[in-house]
Amino acid sequence: MSTAPVALDVLKNSPSASSKPAIELDPRTYRRGLSCVHCGLCLPACPTYTQTGNEADSPRGRIQMMLGLADGRIELTDSVKKHLDLCLDCRGCETACPSSVVYHELIEDTRAKFAQLTKPTAQGRFMQWIFFHIFVHPTRLKLALLPARLMQKIGLYALLRKAGLFNILPMQLRKMEQMLPSSGPLWPKRLPEHSRAGGMDTVLKMLNPATRADVTKPKVTVGFFAGCIGSVMFDKVNRQAVELLAACGADVYAAPMQKCCGAIHHHNGAHHPAEELAKRNIDAFLPKDGPQVDYIVSNIAGCGAMLKEYDFLLRDDKEYADRAKEFSKRVRDVSEVLAQLGLPKMNHTVNETITYHDACHLAHAQKVTEAPRKLLASVPGLKMIPLPESDICCGAAGTYNLTQPVMATELAERKLKNIAATHASICATGNVGCQMHIQSQAHARHQELKVVHPVEILHRAVFGSK
Ligand code: SF4
Ligand code: SF4
Repeated sequence: MSTAPVALDVLKNSPSASSKPAIELDPRTYRRGLSCVHCGLCLPACPTYTQTGNEADSPRGRIQMMLGLADGRIELTDSVKKHLDLCLDCRGCETACPSSVVYHELIEDTRAKFAQLTKPTAQGRFMQWIFFHIFVHPTRLKLALLPARLMQKIGLYALLRKAGLFNILPMQLRKMEQMLPSSGPLWPKRLPEHSRAGGMDTVLKMLNPATRADVTKPKVTVGFFAGCIGSVMFDKVNRQAVELLAACGADVYAAPMQKCCGAIHHHNGAHHPAEELAKRNIDAFLPKDGPQVDYIVSNIAGCGAMLKEYDFLLRDDKEYADRAKEFSKRVRDVSEVLAQLGLPKMNHTVNETITYHDACHLAHAQKVTEAPRKLLASVPGLKMIPLPESDICCGAAGTYNLTQPVMATELAERKLKNIAATHASICATGNVGCQMHIQSQAHARHQELKVVHPVEILHRAVFGSK
């Protein structure tokens, strides 16, 4: 049993040590948690600790709480749950930790156990229903968004927003409304199943003829993972990513049977549905007896991080464990593959000042920080200004911005202040959630800012798109 080296306010309120553990963690996860040496080097990297200054909102404090819950030293009180619920699962602490504590395994296992033990409130149940029954089903999400998209098309939506009609919504629904991008197709179409290296009409029309010859022979075959929310909200960026990959010499296969990556379920404690989705995606991209792709590419950091962890998710599954390992090995962020293949000649200057925000699930979960910066630095005309605290979470964190809107808004404010200090008019980031969250908060505080995916800038430089 580990001993508590620091004062935790929750311990004062916790009933005296009980011998019966409040939760049963996976023994492997529990053991890995014991490698925390309480040094505190993770504290300055933790967004919630740096906001509240409370040890119970720090990685070190939370690790003690989770281990204490599992070995019977701490009881599951409302206060303990509140501090653990406030964690963003951003994994900033993992990057900072010299003892290689794999924090996310602890918090994700703890949340799964909480989900089994505690009954969500009516509001919590409603949010979970939206997450599990709307968000992760692209057709249902398109249907749910159709009225808003129609109102946007005829200009009514902006009028209703201006009149303050949406202010009567409960806070979580208001947050969802604020995050809706101001325009988008009424009904986003599926991506083409196959896009040949340099073979798409659009690519051939737009590319400089001098570069065409280099891209007609595929260098690699990539499976493109569109994402459930991404395929609806991020349709344009997905298409641009496919065009760039093809222009760089990749054959792109958007597997028609692909499903949600499972991150929303996994991070909300629903591990079994996440495992089932993982299996469907493995079958879609690496079929047992079918052609195999070299890489599975995502341009959404949250999805990419989840896909890279299928080996962990399915480690105890006799049928899928080996294929899950193979799958995870092949997952790449789009920036990694574009940097590896090399971009075609960029014929269009982009005269903008830009800064770059590290999405947590790209920087901390996937350890991808160089490739997007390197690609952006190669764009002619683009002036890059480093962002202070670039790898501190913006508060989006999957569905966190909807379940913990107060902390999520505080962190977005902090991010926007840092962005304002760079005087950049554009902020690039590799995650749809960060993009929508930072953009909506910029609108709310009337800060002039365009938040984009790096792919949009690269597409503009290569193809001249607006
Ligand atoms: S995952 Fe993020 S919010 Fe949670 S303890 Fe670690 S750094 Fe803090
Ligand atoms: S940096 Fe690592 S070892 Fe040190 S307190 Fe944080 S989690 Fe524990």
